[in-house]
Amino acid sequence: MNAQVLTILGATGTIGVNTLDVVARHTGRFSIFALTGATQTEKLFQQCLQFRPRYAVMTEQAAADELRQKLAAAKCGTEVLAGRQALVDVATAPEVTTLMAAIVGAAGLPATLAAAKAGKRILLANKETLVVSGQLFMDAIHESGAALLPIDSEHSAIYQSLPMGFDGDLAKAGVNTIWLTASGGPFRTWSLEQMAGVTPEQAVAHPNWVMGRKISVDSASMMNKGLEVIEARWLFNAQADQIRVLVHPQSIIHSMVEYRDGSVMAQLGTPDMRTPIAFALGFPERIEAGVSPLDLLGSSLQFEQPDYKRFPCLQLAFDALRTGGFAPAVLNAANEVAVDAFLDGKCGFGDIPGAISHALERLPDASPLTLEDLLDADHRARTLAREYLLAREVA
Ligand code: NAD
Ligand code: MG
Repeated sequence: MNAQVLTILGATGTIGVNTLDVVARHTGRFSIFALTGATQTEKLFQQCLQFRPRYAVMTEQAAADELRQKLAAAKCGTEVLAGRQALVDVATAPEVTTLMAAIVGAAGLPATLAAAKAGKRILLANKETLVVSGQLFMDAIHESGAALLPIDSEHSAIYQSLPMGFDGDLAKAGVNTIWLTASGGPFRTWSLEQMAGVTPEQAVAHPNWVMGRKISVDSASMMNKGLEVIEARWLFNAQADQIRVLVHPQSIIHSMVEYRDGSVMAQLGTPDMRTPIAFALGFPERIEAGVSPLDLLGSSLQFEQPDYKRFPCLQLAFDALRTGGFAPAVLNAANEVAVDAFLDGKCGFGDIPGAISHALERLPDASPLTLEDLLDADHRARTLAREYLLAREVA
């Protein structure tokens, strides 16, 4: 097999770092074309020294200038680019075979969609891309013939539990139900009153996974599971009723597929994102990931119903999926704004679902057709969410 040529969008984030960790274990198997980051210049600099990519992209011009100077001083030949178009360029360059899409939020959408249109093999961590533009993105994948491999641990588990070569027809594959497991996050047993006063530090302290701050807050509100329900809808061509959420606090069973004959196929493992990353990087081969083997002795597996009253974001996501049209894009955008505000200390944890409902209730009644329509809905939802949060601040 020829070496895969990789661009990693969001290289400085948790998924990016884990991806480079797996890549470093396989000399000669992967080469790095481009690494990108938003703000962490020093981290991207160190990654460039180690992996020697052709290009490094920083979102801001000032950060790009700083990185360029550091690299020149270190006599590293990596060329530095800046801005959003540069993200698209390094995701779609002809040399690139494989894109790791690991930017957080809808900011990752344009470059990831462009790579799908260009027929790249896409390793998708950036679930928000599918939430915002599910139909458009899957159409692009099918039209270009691009391979799409999930990085989210649950979706990797489902992918691994479906028949090899699954073609998007769940009925033909004999599947009744997709069981999406959820850890329940740090507030699994907390009351709504207790949750109202939590700090960002409490919210990002996930019991089982080390993740970026936004997805950690989403896990605490269970919006992460809601986004994953929508992600599963598109990845596996499932109807909302075929996707069920099961709280499993140990995060050992990463998700399950229930077949017509009563069989349930699951994928288990130590909670470590290098497993789904290595699965996607190596597919169809199984490659070393550096993950500790699962030790089931002495562990117990528990399961609970999700509580939609204490975790209204999960209900909002199911509702948005059923509504369709702009609703998932609006849900996502309002959530991004509210999570940012919460992390900045500008609103309470309990304000997050309120901001999302506020935007959803005012969403334009139309079916998204183009990327521009979706980005416009995203923009309007952000404004609505900000207005809602501002009104609460003043009150
Ligand atoms: P993170 O916050 O650790 O990293 C995000 C990366 O995106 C960084 O490299 C950052 O520089 C870059 N970035 C942020 N904003 C940007 C912008 N506006 N433009 C360009 N680049 C930007 O996040 P993460 O935990 O690595 O998550 C990345 C994605 O993977 C998210 O969509 C998340 O939902 C998904 N995911 C993460 C995990 C996990 O365990 N961390 C698991 C499943 C899925
Ligand atoms: Mg997940």
